[in-house]
Amino acid sequence: MSSREEAYIFSVNDPKSRHSIEDAAKRAPANIDAFMRGEIETLKSDGNYRVFADIERCAGAFPEAVNHGSVGPDRVKVWCSNDYLGMGQHPDVMAAMKRAIEQCGAGAGGTRNISGTNHYHVLLERELADLHRKESALIFTSGYVSNWATLGTIAARIPGCIVLSDACNHASMIEGIRHSRAERRIFNHNDAEDLERILKTLDPLAPKIVAFESVYSMDGDIAPIEDILDVAERYGAMTYLDEVHAVGMYGPRGGGIADARGLVDRIDIIEGTLGKAFGVVGGYIAASATICDYVRSFASGFIFTTAMPPACAAGALASVRHLKKSCVERDRQQENVGKVRARLAAMRIPVLDNESHIVPVMVKDPVKCKWVSDWLMQAHGIYVQPVNYPTVPKGTERLRLTPSAVHTDADIDLLARAISEIWSQCALSRAVA
Ligand SMILES: *Cc1c(COP(=O)(O)O)cnc(C)c1O
Repeated sequence: MSSREEAYIFSVNDPKSRHSIEDAAKRAPANIDAFMRGEIETLKSDGNYRVFADIERCAGAFPEAVNHGSVGPDRVKVWCSNDYLGMGQHPDVMAAMKRAIEQCGAGAGGTRNISGTNHYHVLLERELADLHRKESALIFTSGYVSNWATLGTIAARIPGCIVLSDACNHASMIEGIRHSRAERRIFNHNDAEDLERILKTLDPLAPKIVAFESVYSMDGDIAPIEDILDVAERYGAMTYLDEVHAVGMYGPRGGGIADARGLVDRIDIIEGTLGKAFGVVGGYIAASATICDYVRSFASGFIFTTAMPPACAAGALASVRHLKKSCVERDRQQENVGKVRARLAAMRIPVLDNESHIVPVMVKDPVKCKWVSDWLMQAHGIYVQPVNYPTVPKGTERLRLTPSAVHTDADIDLLARAISEIWSQCALSRAVA
């Protein structure tokens, strides 16, 4: 028993102190409340307080949305959605979901183990295994949970496991690795040489996992996957690749960057989401039958939670199937990315250069970033959420534009004009020509 617990037991058994404990108990909630309000105030004064836009996506008219907020027009255009391909309103996806609701009802009714596995979950896992050319796949309620549960379970249970984690990995991977309590070594972002430098110092016999992403969501830069795999293989490390921003988007069938580059066979675990380009919700891993069976058998975050609704599995299944054979959405999206980039470049708006579909417009100040976002909404009905600390480092605040397959030339024109106007009005710096 810790001395704190002893002190507590002594004090509750001591009639003289009972009074003061009751007093303290009465005061405590007020103190917690004051503490919380203080922290929230700090966020506000730093310009980092999150304000959600209250919008309603219009199926069939996306990127248009009804604006329920008090600022801006009744109808707005969304420029910061991860529904990159418009699959959230695809007729096949919506029809599959409606059909599954009629057929199976609303919820799964249980965990996967206890009555919650519906045939749609099984079909979806088969489809995802095929998409990534792996033996198996395992679905989770979100991409966050899939990263957290898979890394958390594997790294915790393999004795002496060391995780090598890219410095810019997503919070869900970081939390999973931390939760595992395994030894964690951070390598410089996208730096295979730094990874090698660290691997050299480690016990050659220790089991190791290299965890990284393909497309990084905030800068839109893409990992040197082949170089990282070369190093990992040389040191006998297992590889874990988060392809959340790439699945559905890259490769002839939407298998992601590793698929496009012919590298899937060399990656042990590919992790993806069904909530971004696939337009529905859920996450998954694709890997060997043994790895999937292991995570299925030991991951608390997989086992002790209600399975995703069958209709969501059916919708995701329809979406994955569609994007396996259709390139129209991917091509259209890439075309729109090119158009947006060209327009912004012509006006010398500072945009982070990258090879992906993500267009980060750099404001580099949290208060101005929020202000620009508010003004775009108010004056032009353009909705783009400001991205501030801690999502990105301080001083790199930005508007993360995500052109989709369903934006029109008129949408792009309005966006470009509005951004140019606000840049002049606020005397924000332009890029060097
Ligand atoms: C969004 C995101 C996730 C989480 O996926 P969800 O399905 O939204 O939970 C995981 N990794 C990265 C890199 C992401 O950007």
